[in-house]
Amino acid sequence: MIEIMPTQRAERIKGLLADLIAFDTISDRTNLPLIAYIEKYLASFSITGRRVVDDTGQKASLWVTIGPEDRPGIVLSGHTDVVPVEGQSWTNDPFQMIERDGRLYGRGTTDMKGFVAVCLAMVPEIVRAPLAMPIHLAISYDEEIGCVGVRPLLHELNRMPVKPLGCFVGEPTQMQVIIGHKGKHGVRATFRGLARHSSIAPSGVNAVEYAAELITEIRRRAVALATEGPRDAMYDVPHTTMLTSTVQGGTALNIVPDHCAVEFEVRGLGLHESKQVTDAVVAWAKATIEPAMQKQDPACGIDFEEILEYPALDMQPEHSLVTLAKQLAGRNSHTKVGFGTEAGVFVSIADIPAVVIGPGGIAQAHTPDEFIELSDLLDCAGFIERLIAHCTRQRNLTATV
Ligand SMILES: [Zn+2]
Repeated sequence: MIEIMPTQRAERIKGLLADLIAFDTISDRTNLPLIAYIEKYLASFSITGRRVVDDTGQKASLWVTIGPEDRPGIVLSGHTDVVPVEGQSWTNDPFQMIERDGRLYGRGTTDMKGFVAVCLAMVPEIVRAPLAMPIHLAISYDEEIGCVGVRPLLHELNRMPVKPLGCFVGEPTQMQVIIGHKGKHGVRATFRGLARHSSIAPSGVNAVEYAAELITEIRRRAVALATEGPRDAMYDVPHTTMLTSTVQGGTALNIVPDHCAVEFEVRGLGLHESKQVTDAVVAWAKATIEPAMQKQDPACGIDFEEILEYPALDMQPEHSLVTLAKQLAGRNSHTKVGFGTEAGVFVSIADIPAVVIGPGGIAQAHTPDEFIELSDLLDCAGFIERLIAHCTRQRNLTATV
């Protein structure tokens, strides 16, 4: 086997990352040029990916298999979209990678084109290895708006004859082994009231004041969850959280407001707890607030719509994928994180066990002057190098010492 020099590997990662950063793939834009770039790169190693295109035809995931296709393998998963830069103060162009003092700056360096660049940089080594089980790449879109883009790909995986044994989602964890994250459910409640001149306020239906009743109830339930709800000490915030995030209503001081929109979210510990908590809030509002509004005017009421939803991740610490992740990362510990990832979706849609482990820190994600340490990317390359070795020796997840 050809020895890969560390400097060679670093240069390859940097070159790929600079190219990936240069594609403006903020979630509301197309990622097709970036996908085409990856396809062209893979084609130079005679690898063909499989595109899963969205309804608009403007975005696509890519599913790649390297190694024996008829055997279950291991997935490396990353998203191509990044969060907006508008309103942030960047020292340099966010879409032009800059290297300074061992750090690589640019939108997406940490979250999470850095991980994707490492995976791609390791492709020549994956291709050369005599793999007993395949390594897959799952490259998605629209993660930042609720882990949306990976879902069609996972439904497609469900139809494939061989399903992967496990998945590593490379979100920034400083290469810590993450076995759980909270789920999330966001809801918009739109109150339809009745406008009147404020001098005859009692004849109107005040949408803002009814919305305030909902907000108060959300607050009351959030406090109850914090004080009496289930707890998981592995989280920084060890209980389910709920809050009202935005309120928009009213037009002028002298008009009874006929419109108010409230957005609230739950981040729940259990697999489906987030939705259960919001469902209970919605049911309460329909049973108490809405009838009171309709008593004043039958045309008034509340419309509820889901803004976003993703499931929690809750892997057992003794799962063989967790043990393998620890062996490959050279760590004994595991923990859980507050932020959501595609890992929960891999489990819930495709029943593929998933662990979150990737380079860089979440503190750098979504910030102006986002950066990642080159050394973190090289650590991640080491993880993948050991994964390749595992996949040449084993046809299962069982870690070997
Ligand atoms: Zn991310």
